[in-house]
Amino acid sequence: MNSGSAWDSALSQLEEAARTMDLDPGVLEVLRNPRRALEVSIPVRMDDGSIVVYKGYRVHHNTSRGPSKGGIRYHPAVTLDEVKALAMWMTWKCAVVGIPFGGAKGGVVVDPRKLSQAELQRLTRRYAYEILPLIGPERDIPAPDLGTNEQIMAWIMDTYSTREGYSVPSVVTGKPLAIGGSAGRGLATARGVMYVTLATMKHLGMSVEDARVVVQGFGNVGAGTVELLHQQGCVIVGVSDVQGGVYSPSGLSPQGLRTHETAAGRVMGYEGGVLIPAAIEGQLTERNADRVKATVIVEAANGPTTPEADEIFKDRGILVVPDILANAGGVTVSYFEWVQDLQAYYWSEDEVNDRLRQIMERSYVDVLEVAEERKVTMRTAATILGVGRVAEAHVTRGLYP
Ligand code: NAD
Repeated sequence: MNSGSAWDSALSQLEEAARTMDLDPGVLEVLRNPRRALEVSIPVRMDDGSIVVYKGYRVHHNTSRGPSKGGIRYHPAVTLDEVKALAMWMTWKCAVVGIPFGGAKGGVVVDPRKLSQAELQRLTRRYAYEILPLIGPERDIPAPDLGTNEQIMAWIMDTYSTREGYSVPSVVTGKPLAIGGSAGRGLATARGVMYVTLATMKHLGMSVEDARVVVQGFGNVGAGTVELLHQQGCVIVGVSDVQGGVYSPSGLSPQGLRTHETAAGRVMGYEGGVLIPAAIEGQLTERNADRVKATVIVEAANGPTTPEADEIFKDRGILVVPDILANAGGVTVSYFEWVQDLQAYYWSEDEVNDRLRQIMERSYVDVLEVAEERKVTMRTAATILGVGRVAEAHVTRGLYP
């Protein structure tokens, strides 16, 4: 898919919200532009002795509401425009769920599956070193995203701490528990997706047991979502990853799927139910939106739906629960992790999950209220809510100098 179009999608969503809420054109201009963007070259000594130079980015979209927060993506299709879009979505997301962060994102143009663990560690440490001027517990706090994981966060934390001369766990979130990670962080995004999916079903009067669910992407978010929704009683009829998909009208077992990751057939063609894209952006487009048979789409991935597909879903009466609400569980528990690290006092998993549930359920209602009041889609409502809160902070602080 054309990942470059994520930036166009992000801008078009912002403009749609700005029009509806009559946003001051000057403030809109500020919010259209990332605050800063860093491009770095990352020379890595490969295991065979050769040197390969990778390209990396770190973008701060907005810091009016607090330090910026956002994941780091390792993927061969990463571009500066994609990272800018993801950073902008982080800004709205943090504001939608009311946590005191701005938006950021990072990325490295690399296929991590092609690197050895030693190469991956050298790449990560050098990338972390190159973005050191931008990150820090009060500045910008990275986290995992597509292609990165808790081990990679541990290496970033160690690289930053080595430079400071003491341990700084609060510089990244999504870390292993042993070095200041939070209970519940691993499944937090998926858990958040589960809470908003259940809230949507309740709102639409759908029964959980009758719901047929299809998930695209079987990574951190997708596999977790399959597991948690299955536990709630939903029937998971289809799952796909980058290599293909499996489909079973009578339901798939998450345990079986985890051990059997090979693929056969297609996931399309089931009647009704819930579609959960949990892979990458630009998956639901004007080319396939007509063929989607789900009545509800819950965006676990960032930016899976293009604005053209959004229009088609709106006309067809398909409810889209947008990414900046649906997948905000990850950044919410990242916020909890940061708070725990700063206080060096750790919470139980039940405490984390319960606070997460409260935030997700409250945010769902907040977005729904705006959608009903203004008669707009859930995406425009969520963007209005996020943009409104960021604009208020920006205007209250005033413009420097
Ligand atoms: P991951 O790397 O763990 O998993 C990605 C999965 O998507 C893999 O199973 C991969 O095979 C699959 N995939 C990739 N391209 C595909 C394609 N074209 N068709 C089908 N499957 C495909 O990544 P993740 O952390 O699970 O992130 C997935 C999405 O969720 C991304 O959009 C990410 O930005 C978003 N997200 C992640 C978090 C988080 O906490 N990790 C938080 C919020 C949002």
